[in-house]
Amino acid sequence: MSNHNESTSGAETPRTTDFIREIIEEDSRTGKFDGRVLTRFPPEPNGYLHIGHAKSICLNFGLAKQYGGEGNLRFDDTNPIKEEDEYVEAITKDVEWLGFDCTDRILFASDYFDQMHELAVQLIKAGKAYVCDLTAEETRAHRGTLTSPGTNSPHRDRGVEENLDLFERMKAGEFPDGSRTLRAKIDMSSPNLNLRDPVMYRILHASHHRTADKWCVYPMYDWAHGLEDSFEGITHSICTLEFENHRPLYDWFLDELGVFHPQQIEFARLNLTYTVMSKRKLLQLVQENHVAGWDDPRMPTLSGMRRRGYPPEAIRNLCERVGVAKRNNTVEIALLQHCVREHLNKIAPRVMAVLDPLKVVIENYPEGESEQLDAVNNPEDASAGTRKVPFGRELYIERADFMEDPPRKFFRLGPGREVRLRYAYFITCTEYIKDADGQVVELRCTYDPATRGGDAPDGRKVKGTLHWVSAEHGLDAEVRLYEHLFTKEHPDDAKKGEEFIANLNPDSLKVLAGCKVEPSLAGAAAGTGYQFERQGYFCVDPDSKDSQLVFNRTVTLRDAWKKIQKKA
Ligand code: ATP
Ligand code: MG
Repeated sequence: MSNHNESTSGAETPRTTDFIREIIEEDSRTGKFDGRVLTRFPPEPNGYLHIGHAKSICLNFGLAKQYGGEGNLRFDDTNPIKEEDEYVEAITKDVEWLGFDCTDRILFASDYFDQMHELAVQLIKAGKAYVCDLTAEETRAHRGTLTSPGTNSPHRDRGVEENLDLFERMKAGEFPDGSRTLRAKIDMSSPNLNLRDPVMYRILHASHHRTADKWCVYPMYDWAHGLEDSFEGITHSICTLEFENHRPLYDWFLDELGVFHPQQIEFARLNLTYTVMSKRKLLQLVQENHVAGWDDPRMPTLSGMRRRGYPPEAIRNLCERVGVAKRNNTVEIALLQHCVREHLNKIAPRVMAVLDPLKVVIENYPEGESEQLDAVNNPEDASAGTRKVPFGRELYIERADFMEDPPRKFFRLGPGREVRLRYAYFITCTEYIKDADGQVVELRCTYDPATRGGDAPDGRKVKGTLHWVSAEHGLDAEVRLYEHLFTKEHPDDAKKGEEFIANLNPDSLKVLAGCKVEPSLAGAAAGTGYQFERQGYFCVDPDSKDSQLVFNRTVTLRDAWKKIQKKA
């Protein structure tokens, strides 16, 4: 199904309608659900949410909002082996962070275990389900293939009484794991493999994160999922394309039981370039320490993106721009970063930070003195006002802003050249000092006091404007730079015999120690975002302390998406 060669063009204008909205509007017109709209987002609590889940959340809760309905956050916790409370908490936090308040609509599939069990008994009584003693392997072998029909289980024609007795004893814990299952009695020769007597219950002596040891039979996903939607009265059960050929099975269960029947609608999963999106693979990255955790800023998880400084508005905007489709495709990660940049450009305060400091001494600036200069907080937002930045005799500028022997087109600093220091003065480099290894370690400059604020009264122009930080007042910081986690656009396309892990980018994290930032950043709270002038957008990491500030680079200022758009 997946077709990642077809990259989405990412429509610039948010879609007003799509095939899902058309179905819902049609249902409202015909009164199918009495005009009700109730959707749900049903994660399995076996990992952290990723941006693909965000797509589903925005869609489901967005539809509920648009049509005056409600959206449930339902934990699909039917598999005790992989599920944990840690995940429930993380998922709830992520959904809220994304901007959807569902605290009063949090539900658990495990709360329906009794009801599901009753309905299973009802199916047995109706002769539509039976206890099967085949092992998992035997069951698979009996199943047949896409081109050949399956074979009936030797236990398929057990009587109702025997089935009820055996199912009761399965539930009572009399039998070991895997020794028996409860199966629906449908059709072993159906062209749809899902209808070949699917397993409804398996025996699993495992403690559940919520029901503890109450159960040792657990419902299979295909039996449970449709029922959960039905119990809650979900009107539109929106899921990804791989469930399309499970729909006839859900229909069969609901119709045989005669219970409320939601409308299932399938749409294409969201995929992103330069990343993987399956929870199993993300878990592997965490467990094998390829990343620092689920919230590592390189991860496509919502917690990783939050730590990286991606605003929830940008993620919602991406989901809207991409829209819903019936065909799988892959979205350029550059489009996500474009959305992030676009939002941060509007809201992020500008500050000055020097990532690779080179010392500058202003020889004609009085020793022991300093002054406060006015700096604009956000040129995109006049209401953000101004702040003071201290200036003194000793400063830091970016090492890359000086060249000993600069070419003509290099508009920054070089011997004898004059540049503007942002919000401050024109300075001219008079001398540079090297260490024993030939590295430039200090510049000696002069400043023109008449250019205070950044303009020369005689109308003299300079081509370059540099950012800087006062050596006396600047704060120490560590800055973490991130690149794509994988070197390949489609990391799952590993070479033969290799795994996606082989495509990890060894340079995806670069830590810069010894950076200098302006003092207004003192005490900035974790998660706060800034534009470091000329460098990109950064945000305060939770590791940050007063003695050592820590920043993550959220995105650079270069917009790769615009380039892609131009080429297209
Ligand atoms: P994974 O394949 O990463 O393990 P999953 O589908 O098994 O994901 P669930 O917890 O079952 O994970 O997902 C909850 C909901 O999120 C499902 O309804 C699923 O359809 C939706 N979803 C998961 N991944 C994506 C995606 N990439 N794009 C859109 N929706 C997704
Ligand atoms: Mg799933």
